[in-house]
Amino acid sequence: MKLAIIGECMIELSNSEGDLYQLNYGGDTLNTAIYLSRCGGQVEYVTALSDDVFSNKMLENWQSEGVGVKHVKKLANSVPGLYMIENEANGERHFHYWRSNSPAKLLLEQYPEIFEELQEYDALFLSGITLSIYSELSRAKLFDFLKIYRDKGGKVIFDNNYRPKSWLSFNEASKTFNQIMNLTDIALLSMEDEISLHGEHSIEYCIERWLKAGASEVVVKNGPNGISTANSQGKFEFDVPNVVKPIDTTAAGDSFNGAFLANKAKGEDLEKCIRAGQFCAAQVIVHKGAIVPREVTLIKE
Ligand code: AMP
Repeated sequence: MKLAIIGECMIELSNSEGDLYQLNYGGDTLNTAIYLSRCGGQVEYVTALSDDVFSNKMLENWQSEGVGVKHVKKLANSVPGLYMIENEANGERHFHYWRSNSPAKLLLEQYPEIFEELQEYDALFLSGITLSIYSELSRAKLFDFLKIYRDKGGKVIFDNNYRPKSWLSFNEASKTFNQIMNLTDIALLSMEDEISLHGEHSIEYCIERWLKAGASEVVVKNGPNGISTANSQGKFEFDVPNVVKPIDTTAAGDSFNGAFLANKAKGEDLEKCIRAGQFCAAQVIVHKGAIVPREVTLIKE
């Protein structure tokens, strides 16, 4: 399965000591691409950067991780989006964003040829955060494209990552998530985000809603409580075999997705994909930061 991931990576500044800030690069979809690659899969990352020093460093980093960059566009005279993480003494983290003029937001407007380029992939992965960065017009173009893409046999894989602050209003987010639900083949969902979007409801109801909208496979991640799934073969529950005490849960869902998709692309069955995702996520959350040191084992032999 030839796979491309669409999204945005930003400059990340997190305060380590007093007013000293550490620089990293981060974004949910990029995290997924990196873990997918580290778990032995092949993927192209689809976004726009600029021609500045930070964009070049990002590109170098992605290439060193084995993530394909042939669809990364370069919008001159701009800079990538930036966010700062403020760590409070009680461990609480606050996120502040400067992304309103980021090149990634303009990808679909400035480079409409990307739709043609994406036709060569068997599957496209995107998230709720990906959708939140585009204008309404760009999203409408993307959804028109996805309809045709699916009609021709392409598969859409969606993670419902919902960040209320990234949306103009709850209504805008709710409408958009309903639109993409009707265009999704494989749904990789966080139950917490489903509840934020649709109010308190059961996992069973959540699965039914996505199946009814046309998904052929639904995976509901529910932290250490396990994973519920449904596909054409039935409904299956998976406990978390190795519950750990997390140090930093950043990228738990993203790393799960990466390992899951690396296995999916190899044609492995649902159980193998789930177990690989769980193993990878459990390693990631016992380390600080979204991207753990490379020597951490992410693949269970
Ligand atoms: P979440 O997005 O919180 O549902 O987490 C994504 C995945 O990370 C889950 O499906 C689990 O596989 C894994 N995970 C989350 N919390 C834990 C934990 N305490 N111990 C082991 N794995 C976890």
